[in-house]
Amino acid sequence: MKKVILVRYGEIILKGLNRPIFEDRLMTNIRKSLAGLGKVDVIRSQARIFIEPHDEDFDFDKAVEKLIKVFGIVSVSIVLKIDSDFEQIKMQSLIMAQKHVEYLLRTTKQSPKCQEQSEIISFKVEAKRGDKSFPMQSPQICAELGGYLLENIPSLRVDVHKPDFIFFVEVRENTYIYCDIIPSNGGLPIGSNGKGVLLLSGGIDSPAAGWMMAKRGMSIEAVHFYSYPYTSERAKDKVISLAKILAKYCYRIKLHIVPFTEIQLEINDKCPEELLTIIMRRVMMKIAERIALKSEAQALITGESLGQVASQTPQALAVTNAVVSLPVFRPLIGMDKNEVIEIARKIGTYETSILPYEDCCTVFVAKHPKTKPTLSETEKSEEGLHIEEMIEKAINDTEIIIVTE
Ligand code: ATP
Ligand code: MG
Repeated sequence: MKKVILVRYGEIILKGLNRPIFEDRLMTNIRKSLAGLGKVDVIRSQARIFIEPHDEDFDFDKAVEKLIKVFGIVSVSIVLKIDSDFEQIKMQSLIMAQKHVEYLLRTTKQSPKCQEQSEIISFKVEAKRGDKSFPMQSPQICAELGGYLLENIPSLRVDVHKPDFIFFVEVRENTYIYCDIIPSNGGLPIGSNGKGVLLLSGGIDSPAAGWMMAKRGMSIEAVHFYSYPYTSERAKDKVISLAKILAKYCYRIKLHIVPFTEIQLEINDKCPEELLTIIMRRVMMKIAERIALKSEAQALITGESLGQVASQTPQALAVTNAVVSLPVFRPLIGMDKNEVIEIARKIGTYETSILPYEDCCTVFVAKHPKTKPTLSETEKSEEGLHIEEMIEKAINDTEIIIVTE
């Protein structure tokens, strides 16, 4: 008998011949995320992964907290691994169910239906028999085990439609029993889908955008443009904090901090006011692409959402795209701000993003930015800039920080 963690993964199962590559990547990422919690065996078995700690005092809650941030995982359960023997199953299930009922009675998880009889908890048993040599079929396991628990735990009653909890029994070579399934984010393991360079501002959108592409298996590298002294040192710290939060999901983020003041001043000086933002965005994209190519990344990522501001109209996005040849991923393009905020809250970046430090985009803004710029007028307006030299200098002066959680 042993307490272990059962990890379920979803989309990877559909990967056909490539499935082992994704599974190996997921197992590597699991090991990485649990490093520091003590020795564990990570074992793949029948489209699941089991994590078996070596030490008695292994911190299961901490491990679960880490695992639900590993992309590719759909859900996890802390389970008890026991022999596939029905007497054993009954005995251990009774102990586990009793503890769980006590826990539910202590917390608020009781069925609202039972408010008057607050000592009642409803349940059902769900059994899966993966090992056909086991003498009982699933319905029989459910009926007999359910009956046994009901007889021995006075506060239990059965509700097969809306139970307060489900008691799960999976009979395989060993049997696994558990009461909780903790959902995770799904997606694909980081590193299984190349690398993207995220344009990370201090706002709400770009961290959420980076998280969404990481969820699809991209490793993330980040670029931040800052305009000291127009933006403060604290604005830079805020971006480092955001990268730190993202690193909980992405392991390690190489953050390029690019000095942008001279470029902004030059654009401000030489370009028409209504095109300031779009030209600034084009220079940002160019620099980000240079960094991406050097880092062997295959895409740029931004937090743009259609129509949010003047630089995010279809025409403006086309003018921005024209300056780079790498694909630009904009996972928030069809989202409302509220939907983005929901993601930011879920991933833990929201509270940091709303801290009131200025971004370089907000320092030099036009009163009436053009919402439908054309490529030819924008290119014409850029003619007086020494773009190549400016970019070269900014890249040379870039500070690189390796951010870990
Ligand atoms: P966010 O909430 O992420 O700041 P936003 O709504 O403020 O986005 P914009 O300021 O127009 O929108 O920026 C659009 C996108 O451009 C951002 O999502 C980000 O990807 C990129 N970006 C803007 N400012 C910076 C910056 N200072 N450094 C790096 N990328 C930036
Ligand atoms: Mg912004």
